[in-house]
Amino acid sequence: MAFMNPFVKIRRDLHQIPELGFQEFKTQAYLLNYLETLSQERLTIRKWKTGLFVKIAGTNPKKTIGYRTDIDGLPIEEETQFSFSSTHPDKMHACGHDLHMSIALGVLTYFVENQINDNLLFIFQPAEEGPGGAQPMLESEIMQEWRPDMFIALHIAPEYPVGSIAVREGLLFANTSELFIDLKGKGGHAAYPHNTNDMVIAACSLVTQLQTIVSRNVDPLDSAVITIGKITGGTVQNIIAEKARLEGTIRTLSPKSMEKVKHRIKKLISGIETGFECEASIDFGANYYEVFNHPELTREFMEYAGHETNANVIECREAMTGEDFGYMLKEIPGFMFWLGVNSPFGLHHAKLNPNEGAIEFAIETITKYISFKGNQ
Ligand SMILES: [Zn+2]
Ligand SMILES: [Zn+2]
Repeated sequence: MAFMNPFVKIRRDLHQIPELGFQEFKTQAYLLNYLETLSQERLTIRKWKTGLFVKIAGTNPKKTIGYRTDIDGLPIEEETQFSFSSTHPDKMHACGHDLHMSIALGVLTYFVENQINDNLLFIFQPAEEGPGGAQPMLESEIMQEWRPDMFIALHIAPEYPVGSIAVREGLLFANTSELFIDLKGKGGHAAYPHNTNDMVIAACSLVTQLQTIVSRNVDPLDSAVITIGKITGGTVQNIIAEKARLEGTIRTLSPKSMEKVKHRIKKLISGIETGFECEASIDFGANYYEVFNHPELTREFMEYAGHETNANVIECREAMTGEDFGYMLKEIPGFMFWLGVNSPFGLHHAKLNPNEGAIEFAIETITKYISFKGNQ
């Protein structure tokens, strides 16, 4: 067998054991096992739920540089045919968090062997896909004690070639919120609508009304998305539905328009309650704060990576995707960037096939940048 980069092997090992949010027990054990093989001299490892904090002491620290990877997989049945496919039924690393972890371990290993002035804090964060690990991790005692002065993270990008980094100053990812609406009326015989209160009609009307929020309430120069991805209601074709449930997601480019959109949704729902004489309840589920890249740090990184490394740095547009790393960037300056992996299938796809060449490229680029930043 040809030489395989050790971090490609690690990625493949991790790819086989995807676990959902806060159930990353095998993943945590794997990471701990690997970390034990390193020199422990300047290393401090602390567990946090199913995640980890790993600190590397600097030689003459003026600050602490934080590096975050997420560690969870998705409830998707893998369809890749890889020899190293998921061994966990109906679970898959379909968002590249296996690559994120192997890159983090690669960077960490480099700095165990190569000292710099500043402290480094590596965060292996559970539950990015839900219910969200970044915020509780940020509020944890360990984070209070080891709080970094800046934070870096990446996400794989199937649409860019290997060797490229796509990033921008300011907003990178949107504010997101889940949306669950339950409607309850009065069911009955399909031929006696006047004795019932049909929640299929109420749900249809509500979906149509929700579409007016983006077109009539959000500033056209701002932007928002409201998607209802699922409707359930009723029992059979000849019974009027007593209940209906709408499930969706909200995306906005600012926290302010998120508040406005939610306010309008509540208003429209109370209108449905009055107009259709039914009961409605609303749950905004998991909310992720926007990923806002610190302008100066991002600019400096883009210039450094563009001139001092082999990276092809692309200034990209913001995306309506969500990432709970936004909570960390809300408190601590830093940035997140897209790492090109050139996969014909996108994120959350059962055939996601990232080019593993991105692992070595990312480790090299990030270690160079952190060495520069950590000796400043
Ligand atoms: Zn994802
Ligand atoms: Zn992801």
